[in-house]
Amino acid sequence: NFIKHGKTVQVMSYLVLARKYRPQTFEEVVEQKQVTLTLTNAIKAGRVAHAILFSGPRGTGKTTIARILAKAMNCEKGPTPRPCNVCRSCMEITAGAATDVFEIDGASNNSVDQVRELRENARFMPAHSPYKIYIIDEVHMLSKSAFNALLKTLEEPPPHVMFFFATTEPHKVPVTILSRCQRHDLSYISIDPIVGHLEMICGKEGVKIGKKSLELIARETGGSVRDALSLLDQVMSCSEGEISHDMVLQTLGVLDNDTLFQLSDSVLDRDIKRALEILDNVYRSGHDIKKFYSEVMAHLRNLLVIKIGAGDELSSSIPSSEVKRLEEQAARMSELFLTQALSLMMADEEKVRFSQHPRIVMEMVFVKLAKTARPLPVDMLIKKIDELKNELSSMAPENFSVPEVEPGPLTDEQDTRDKTFHAPHSEGETGPADTGKPAMDVNRVVPGKPDDMPDDKVPKVMGVDRAADWEAILAIIGDKHPLLAANLNNSTLTAVKDNRLEIKVYGSKTNRAILQRKQSLDNLKKICSDFFKKEMEISITYNANDTIGTDATHGNTAATRRRPGPHPMVLEVLDIFGGKIINT
Ligand SMILES: [Zn+2]
Repeated sequence: NFIKHGKTVQVMSYLVLARKYRPQTFEEVVEQKQVTLTLTNAIKAGRVAHAILFSGPRGTGKTTIARILAKAMNCEKGPTPRPCNVCRSCMEITAGAATDVFEIDGASNNSVDQVRELRENARFMPAHSPYKIYIIDEVHMLSKSAFNALLKTLEEPPPHVMFFFATTEPHKVPVTILSRCQRHDLSYISIDPIVGHLEMICGKEGVKIGKKSLELIARETGGSVRDALSLLDQVMSCSEGEISHDMVLQTLGVLDNDTLFQLSDSVLDRDIKRALEILDNVYRSGHDIKKFYSEVMAHLRNLLVIKIGAGDELSSSIPSSEVKRLEEQAARMSELFLTQALSLMMADEEKVRFSQHPRIVMEMVFVKLAKTARPLPVDMLIKKIDELKNELSSMAPENFSVPEVEPGPLTDEQDTRDKTFHAPHSEGETGPADTGKPAMDVNRVVPGKPDDMPDDKVPKVMGVDRAADWEAILAIIGDKHPLLAANLNNSTLTAVKDNRLEIKVYGSKTNRAILQRKQSLDNLKKICSDFFKKEMEISITYNANDTIGTDATHGNTAATRRRPGPHPMVLEVLDIFGGKIINT
């Protein structure tokens, strides 16, 4: 113990985690089962090659596996796939001080002289083990002449010599060397197994740290176990007791992923104020705005990958808990929105990178993003079109009086009728009045009083105000919701009592179906409430439309003045896309 800054600090001999927990058997190696299994089988069969090349990204276990293989070959109980780890040879290799196993860093021992020396040395028999084993790391760093010198030994290797090469860049190793090696390609290690490995080590070390933090560490080190362990070392050395997530974020100098989720949510909700607040927080926290920009892009890209159904691809670089969260967020977004957002961000990426004021550029990008019209998801469009199709196909034919009952299951009679309606000759049956018009009664001008309207229910004196009010309301509806207006074509305002409007509609089953939609009722209610400047309740009664040809002079004022509009299908499309007809 010694005194430092007035505090007693305990000094311990400290072994870095990566060394302390280096796997000593094939079973302990994180992932890479393909490679360890092949080697195990080769050892059992006595067919281990004299030159083996391990290639793969950094920190995936190349030299670790080479060392275990060296142990397996030189163990007193060997060659065995399970080296004992207690014999002289095994212990020497574990300690990195074996007399017959040479670990050479190709980056610093890359000259031809060094390789010649190695060749001379290789001629002599091993001191006390079956094999002299040379493990050359980063073998691609050897010079051309060094490779040539090495090649001579590889062509006729002494039976007691083995070469295990490791490289992150196998394409830089000459083909002449490659062709004389058995090659094992190690793959990237997915995040989840690394997190599992870190959890195991933290458990053994008695370190309290959340899984979220371990996931962050694993993710930041991009699939390298060694790097993940040295980051964990760093985090552990900066803290006492339980390690908080904030501390980990601070030590690593990274941003919490929540920020990315919140920002994408605010853009989707077009909440530009919130988006700018988040950006401000990022800026204030001292995080690099340019780095943040690419993080947002990566986040959107991940969402898009999930949206197009290729989410499996993400599991190697993102912890499964976060993939799940991404899936939830992606469900709220359309593929089109994500494509648009990504294109927009990519288009302005250079501006952010080279600007003196990346924050302002980024703010502008988010304003643009939030203003991007949010397209309807295609599946929602298809659903709407399907609904419309169903309504059209179940529509009653001309002049059929729909009884005022709730729509129930189709009766046989209705079924037959529908078939008749679809048959090619049905057009003739609908009568001459329909020539050139869609075979629907939605747009028909109803000039007269409906026959089925009992005289006592018809307002004797149509209140001038009420009729005029209804005309005005219909004009507003016609402007805002053409489809709704078309379906109110034959309607009267029968009563206004306090805050209750009673509307009578003469129309077909389709009229009724469209008017009974929640959206229609909500729109109608809103417009009426706005019109009367108070919250209005709407009550609609329906009468079947069988009034064609009634004398126009007895008609109610509202219905007679209205003209047939466009085809309801057109109106429905306008309704879905929020469009307007500009040339009829
Ligand atoms: Zn042993």
